[in-house]
Amino acid sequence: MAKYNLAVLPGDGIGVEIVPEAIKVLEIIGQRFGHQFVFTQGLIGGAAIDAVGVALPEATLELCRQSDAVLLGAVGGPKWDTLPARERPEAASLLALRKGLGLYANIRPVQVYPALVQASTLKPEVIRGVDLVVFRELTGGLYFGEKRREPFEDGELAVDTLIYTTPEIERIARLAFAAARRRRNKVTSVDKANVLESSRLWRETVSRLHQSEFSDVQLEHMYVDNCAMQFIRYPLQFDVIVTENMFGDILTDEASMLTGSIGMLPSASIGGKVAMYEPAHGSAPDIAGQKKANPLATIVSAAMLLRYSFQLEVEAQSIETAVVKVLDEGFRTGDLLEPDKILVNTEEMGTLVAERC
Ligand code: NAD
Repeated sequence: MAKYNLAVLPGDGIGVEIVPEAIKVLEIIGQRFGHQFVFTQGLIGGAAIDAVGVALPEATLELCRQSDAVLLGAVGGPKWDTLPARERPEAASLLALRKGLGLYANIRPVQVYPALVQASTLKPEVIRGVDLVVFRELTGGLYFGEKRREPFEDGELAVDTLIYTTPEIERIARLAFAAARRRRNKVTSVDKANVLESSRLWRETVSRLHQSEFSDVQLEHMYVDNCAMQFIRYPLQFDVIVTENMFGDILTDEASMLTGSIGMLPSASIGGKVAMYEPAHGSAPDIAGQKKANPLATIVSAAMLLRYSFQLEVEAQSIETAVVKVLDEGFRTGDLLEPDKILVNTEEMGTLVAERC
C-alpha cells in the first residue's frame, strides 16, 4: 500500500471547518483505492500566535518540508488585525511559508460547473463553458518588496516596492506556456506595462521566452485594468492567464464570481520540493464557527494535490466527479443557494462528496 505524508494546516476562521471535510474525502479515497494518507496537523496563523507566540513556528515549516504535500485552510482574522503588519498572520505565516517552501507559482483554475450557471451574478450566456486557469506569481512583486514607514510633514510616508527579476518572470511564464500546450494553446500575459517599469520587464521577458521556446502557443498581452473588465464582458476568451502576484490575487477573487462563489475556487502552489494546496479564499470571519462555509474549494484543492503531487489522476477525477454529482443533485451551501435547491452545512457537504467518491 502506497503511503503519503500530508502536513495539514487548518489555520483560522473557517479553515478549521473546511479542512476536515477535505480530509474526510481523502480518507474515503484512500480506502477505495488502497492508499494510506497520513495526516499530521501543524499550527499556523492566528491559531499559532495564540498557542506559541509566532504565526509560523519552526516546527510547522519543518513539518511541511518533511511531508509529501501540504493542505492549508486559511489564516487571519479581526483578533490579530491590530498587530504590526509584519507580525500579522497573513504576512508572518502565509507569505513566509510560500517563500520558505519556494512556491513561486500559484495555479488557480476557474471552472464554471453547468449546475451553477444560474448561481453566478453574471448572465448564463456570458459564463457557460468558462474554463480558464490563472498562473499567479507568488513569491515576488509588491507583496515581497521592501516596505517602510517614516514620518512625513504632519503625517507619515509609506513605501511598498515592486521588484521583479528576469528569472522570476521566466520561470512562471514557462509553466504557463507549458500548461497552455496541454489545454487550448493560448496565453494571456497580464501587466501594467503602460505605467510600471516592472511590467515592461515582465512583457519583454514573456515575449522573448515565447519567441525562443513557445512560438507554437498563441500569446497576447493585456493591461490588468482591461483584463478586469474582460473577465466580466467575455470570460470565454481566456485559456491560460499569467500575471504578477498582486494582479493575480485581485483578478482571481473577481474570477471566482464567474463560478458563483469564492468558496468554489481551489488552488495549488508549486515550484519547490513540496507543493501546497489551499482554497483561494480567506478565513471568512463573518461566517466562521457557523458551519456555513462552502468546503468545495478545499475539497477540489485536495483533488489537485492527488493529481500534481502524487500523480493519482483517477483518484483526483473521482473527487471532481463526486463534486459535479453533488451539485447536479441540487445540494448547496448558503453561498450558492437558489430557491429550488437543498441547503446543507459544511459537514453535510463534505459527507455528500465523500459518499460519491
Ligand atoms: P474572505 O475570502 O475570507 O471572505 C470574503 C467573503 O467571502 C466573506 O463574505 C466570506 O464569508 C465569503 N467566503 C469566503 N470563503 C467562503 C466559503 N468557503 N464559503 C462561503 N463563503 C465564503 O476575505 P476577507 O473577508 O477579505 O478576509 C478575511 C480574513 O482572511 C482576513 O484576515 C484576510 O487577511 C484573510 N485572508 C487569508 C487568505 C489565506 O489564508 N489564503 C486569503 C485571503 C484573505
